[in-house]
Amino acid sequence: MVPYFETLRVKTAGLSNLRDSKPQATPSKIQNMKTILTLLITIVTALGLDTARADDKPSTSGVPASYPLKKCVVSDEELGGEMGKPIKVIHDGVDVYLCCKSCVKDFNKAPAKFVAKVKAAQTKK
Ligand SMILES: [Zn+2]
Repeated sequence: MVPYFETLRVKTAGLSNLRDSKPQATPSKIQNMKTILTLLITIVTALGLDTARADDKPSTSGVPASYPLKKCVVSDEELGGEMGKPIKVIHDGVDVYLCCKSCVKDFNKAPAKFVAKVKAAQTKK
C-alpha cells in the first residue's frame, strides 16, 4: 500500500508533466495568429459593410437616406408615417417613394410631373 504522501507526490508530478508537455507557442507563432485574426476581422467587417451598402439601408421611415424627399410627391403625406411602409415606383430611371397604393394610381396618371418633383429635390440637395 502506498502511503498517502506518496500518492500526493505522484499527483503533483503528473500535473507538472502535463504542464511541460503543452506545446509552447513561440512569440513568432503568436504574432502570426494575431495577424491572421486581424485579417479575418478585417475581411468580416469589410463584407458586413458591403452588404449594408448593397442593401441601401432604409432609414426608419422606410426610405433610403439618399432619397431627397421626406414626403409623398402625390399627396404630400409624410413617408413611413401613419400610412405605413412607403411604396417604391421607378419611372424614367428615377426611384420615387409614395405613401400608399392610391398614390401609385395617381402617380401613373402623370408620372413625369411627379418625377420632376423628385429630380428638383435632388438638385436642390
Ligand atoms: Zn399616398
